[in-house]
Amino acid sequence: MVQLENAQQILRSCTVFIHETEMVSLQKAIGRVLAEDVKAAADQPPFPRSPLDGYAVRGSDTKGLTKEQTRSFRVIGKIYAGEVFDGIVHEGEAVRIMTGAPIPEGADTVIRQEWTDYGEEEVLIFGESKPYQDYCFQGEDYKKGEILLKKGNVLDGISIALLASLGMAQVEVYRLPRIAVISTGDEVIQPGEPLRPGKIYDSNLHFICARLKEMGVEPFYADHNADSAVCMAQKLYSIAKDVDLIITTGGVSVGEKDIMHEVVNLLEAKELFWRVDLKPGAPTLAMEFQGKPVICLSGNPFGAAVNFELLVRSVIEKMTENPKWELKKSNAVLQSDFVKKSGVRRFLRAYAENGNVWLPDGNHASGVLSSMLGCNCLVEIPEKKHGAKKGEVVCIYHLM
Ligand code: AMP
Ligand code: MG
Repeated sequence: MVQLENAQQILRSCTVFIHETEMVSLQKAIGRVLAEDVKAAADQPPFPRSPLDGYAVRGSDTKGLTKEQTRSFRVIGKIYAGEVFDGIVHEGEAVRIMTGAPIPEGADTVIRQEWTDYGEEEVLIFGESKPYQDYCFQGEDYKKGEILLKKGNVLDGISIALLASLGMAQVEVYRLPRIAVISTGDEVIQPGEPLRPGKIYDSNLHFICARLKEMGVEPFYADHNADSAVCMAQKLYSIAKDVDLIITTGGVSVGEKDIMHEVVNLLEAKELFWRVDLKPGAPTLAMEFQGKPVICLSGNPFGAAVNFELLVRSVIEKMTENPKWELKKSNAVLQSDFVKKSGVRRFLRAYAENGNVWLPDGNHASGVLSSMLGCNCLVEIPEKKHGAKKGEVVCIYHLM
């Protein structure tokens, strides 16, 4: 029997950070961990550009202009965004210009069109703009050579936009972990099959796969196995070399069909621990096989769910160095009473918002899934405590 923190540490010590990288398209890069520093190859914007629709002029020519004191300029050209004006703006001259178009040589500001009579050959200007007042500088966003994103950054929407603005169609990221998920149990059948007497549908396999996907990892392998230690050992043996982590559910308790203990022996794997001092999911077993962590969660759906969050996430966090896998903790004020008999450290499903946390009304048993619907955190009731009262400050673990 080990403490939770000890179990996490044992698992993490046989987990390695995945150094291999891959190039992915920007469309696939969201949420991935950057494997290179990204430097600006050019200034952004690459040229001084107009922030307005109006007329590019020399600012000094507009000094003191008002509705009462207007001045007429000769319009020597017109440019839209995407075009270039091939000429120089001299004193008393203007170029009709649209937002995003390069400011022509000689001009140092843009008069907004609302301060003009929109003239085409001659334009009457009745507003003042000082040099560089209405002017987007070349490199105002970033300058060539600047490091914009650092190795290890998790790519979010703005990072992707920056990469795109640099003209990068692909980016080098660390490869994602390859994870196998295998549920066990002779009673467990797959959704879609007809329900036969004594059977139940497999929710664990689908929970874990869905959770991995929700966190951005496509499961590498997902399967169900009967309560046969030999078949399970063969399966683990054949996939271990291709994956970084194996997660199983069921068969870890003390019953006759709890095959995972025999699987450890058949594989001659190193047992890392069996039983974690918490509820639900206490019988969790962990082994190291071919240098890979194998985490065998309890078959009880809530036990599997809680230990996926408490143990599996910690391992994936080390593999990816992506902080989203870390289970963030905070304090919150409990809004309902909870009574329990034993003094075992307990994790309860709950919903937290604005520093308060509510327990669902439904059943809190380990085999019950439905009351977890809509929950966004786990509430910890520490060891030796026989419950918690409304108004008490409790530690919560955020699931997202
Ligand atoms: P076990 O850990 O194998 O002893 O299973 C504990 C309980 O969880 C039993 O009631 C099982 O029927 C149930 N169970 C096991 N595996 C699953 C699964 N994949 N999906 C839903 N329930 C399961
Ligand atoms: Mg079982």
